[in-house]
Amino acid sequence: MGLLEILIFLILGSVLLAFGYTLFFRISPGGRGRGKAEGPGIEGQAGDPQTCPVCAARLPPGVLVKSAVYPPVNGTDRLMHIMGCPFCLEGEAEKRRRRVCPVCHKPLGDNDYLFARVFERPGKSHVHVLGCINCRRPRVRGG
Ligand SMILES: [Zn+2]
Ligand SMILES: [Zn+2]
Repeated sequence: MGLLEILIFLILGSVLLAFGYTLFFRISPGGRGRGKAEGPGIEGQAGDPQTCPVCAARLPPGVLVKSAVYPPVNGTDRLMHIMGCPFCLEGEAEKRRRRVCPVCHKPLGDNDYLFARVFERPGKSHVHVLGCINCRRPRVRGG
């Protein structure tokens, strides 16, 4: 394990502590939609607090979305990678919830993740989902 990975894990731990249960996901404008996905788990609405932004499952207290937070670059807000929640990441493949990007509504693979920006304001921190690796991937020349 490299030093950077350890740093990320440390930051992740502190962010989870700081956010607690008030973790709030906000979907970018233009990505408004029902964000509906099928599968087990309690149905929530994409963008709701305590709702997995990948599969729209409402998460019981204590269940956290798996994510990695990176240190801020040039003093800007932190960048976050959101992998998903236990409902869409763990267990048998057939029983998992469908993983869909809340912005482009394209299906996400098991190893795909969402990009999000963490806004840290006193008492008002929230996570803004920007898109997935498909719709947020840096433009490739000629593509
Ligand atoms: Zn999920
Ligand atoms: Zn997307």
